Amino acid sequence: MVVVGGGLTGLSAAYGLVSRVSTSRRPLEVIVLESREKIGGAVWTDRRDGFTIEGGADSFITNKPWALDLAHQLGLGDQLIGTDDRNRRSFVVRGGRLLPVPDGFVLMAPSRILPLLTSPILSIRGKLRMMMDLILPRKSDDADESLAAFVRRRLGREALDRLVQPLVGGIYTANPAELSLKATLPQFPAMEREHGSLILAALRQSRKSKAIDRDASGARYGLFASFADGMDTLPRALAAALPPRTIRTNTAVRRIIRPDAGKPWRIELLDGPPIEAGGVILTTEAHASARLIDGFDPELALQLRSIPYASSAIVTAAFRRDQIQHPLNGFGAVVPIIEGRSILAMSFLSVKFPRRAPDGSVLMRVFVGGATQPALFDLEDDELRTLVKGELAGLLGVTGEPLFLEIARHSRAMPQYTLGHLERVDSIRQRASKHSRLVLAGNAFGGVGIPDCVRSGLDAAGTLLVALADPAAPAAA
Ligand SMILES: Cc1cc2nc3c(=O)[nH]c(=O)nc-3n(C[C@H](O)[C@H](O)[C@H](O)COP(=O)(O)OP(=O)(O)OC[C@H]3O[C@@H](n4cnc5c(N)ncnc54)[C@H](O)[C@@H]3O)c2cc1C
Repeated sequence: MVVVGGGLTGLSAAYGLVSRVSTSRRPLEVIVLESREKIGGAVWTDRRDGFTIEGGADSFITNKPWALDLAHQLGLGDQLIGTDDRNRRSFVVRGGRLLPVPDGFVLMAPSRILPLLTSPILSIRGKLRMMMDLILPRKSDDADESLAAFVRRRLGREALDRLVQPLVGGIYTANPAELSLKATLPQFPAMEREHGSLILAALRQSRKSKAIDRDASGARYGLFASFADGMDTLPRALAAALPPRTIRTNTAVRRIIRPDAGKPWRIELLDGPPIEAGGVILTTEAHASARLIDGFDPELALQLRSIPYASSAIVTAAFRRDQIQHPLNGFGAVVPIIEGRSILAMSFLSVKFPRRAPDGSVLMRVFVGGATQPALFDLEDDELRTLVKGELAGLLGVTGEPLFLEIARHSRAMPQYTLGHLERVDSIRQRASKHSRLVLAGNAFGGVGIPDCVRSGLDAAGTLLVALADPAAPAAA
């Protein structure tokens, strides 16, 4: 069995294959092929001078259970950490100042009215317009809408520009005028459908969850979790749970050749002899998967290429605490596009999680590029450094040179779930199902977050094992 791609989806898929077949009598060799020198894909951690640097994801959401469950299965329970709630708040930049997101405001719905009404982020007019959500009629049809159209319709343009665009954009590095609401945040149109108003729905849900919180013993990790020693704990533990020599790094797949009936798949490498496999799970970015299958299914390749991707850079900078004027009493700040600045967001990693920086110093991450500012991703490293230092000086009053500054580039790594995404994925799945024992998985399809990727990998393993149980399956590689 071959898994192409050694990111979290690929490693979860390999783990799923190995752990489910270990109980069966049929021996099954699993090989993970990863083009880079390290596993983990968009998850990587560097350690330097007592700092723990996250080059990609820094945490994962716990209300989707798959990553948390996997961590426990791998024996990582005692390494899970939650956010440091002493500073549990985020900021939005307005007029160059960091203003707190109103208490109870979650992505696009306020579960408390007073903090919203007293917040300086919106004008009086903007707040009144938001309150019209309470009386506006609900949408009469079930058609998909862009995030921008939905928010403008329910809450008004100012709420979109000043709050929702930067908060949601931070997650998907996306353009809200193109982002499909149904594919990314279906809970919000559902709130409109059921309650006729986002505000009413959020108020009711908040009352309900307070009652549940009172009754429950309390969640252990809060909404976001990470690992004490950094996010790469998860890919490393997955790799350790696989038999020796399962993973081949520095091994790029060039193309995949479809077998004649009853024969194994043939995986051609950029360098090295081809591999034959009874089944293949492709977990590479949709555009990379398209290249691999172009030879035998150009139609499927075209469909995969129709999923757009955005590139972004994470610039991690370390400072002495006394170089920064801002109190850093929050997890970070998002920057609305209408502020006209050159960064999307910044996160104060060493405030958010314990043990990310030595005492007396601070580690922060700055996000640049994405779908809304693609040209900034193409800047040379030196230009990017200068840009980030300038923004940090202006927004946080940072003085002097950073202790160090590292750039992690994620080229075409973030799929954009644009309008029509769900239909696109449906037809990709239908088309792919024609190829027996070839399974597509990864963050391009059913969610970009780490729990979604873990689920996608495990599900792909299950699908392949079912296909293999077919008596017509060729001998497994
Ligand atoms: C900058 C950034 C920050 C993020 N932050 C968070 C966060 O905080 N929390 C969260 O939940 N999610 C976050 N995400 C999303 C999440 O990290 C990713 O969606 C997830 O890690 C993707 O995993 P994957 O295995 O599907 O894909 P990838 O990690 O992209 O793995 C695909 C792998 O395939 C390999 N590959 C490509 N072509 C070939 C080939 N021809 N041959 C062999 N190998 C190949 C690539 O090298 C790569 O390693 C973030 C994503 C990005 C980009």
